[in-house]
Amino acid sequence: MICANCNRPLKSPAAMLWRMAFGPTCARKLSLLAPPAVRHAAWDVRSRERRDTQTMDLFVDLAAEPK
Ligand SMILES: [Zn+2]
Repeated sequence: MICANCNRPLKSPAAMLWRMAFGPTCARKLSLLAPPAVRHAAWDVRSRERRDTQTMDLFVDLAAEPK
């Protein structure tokens, strides 16, 4: 299997579009894959949604404390 964008051989395609396979670099360049920072941000939002509002924060925000 080769990358449809740069024709490099692929062990396993990072993204498939129709019958074309793309490597991780090309998939990211063609915005078929979100960059790691964006994926992490999406995960962060999802984990925040599950917060238990009945439980106190384990880590208190020190910056918000009055001096
Ligand atoms: Zn490629």
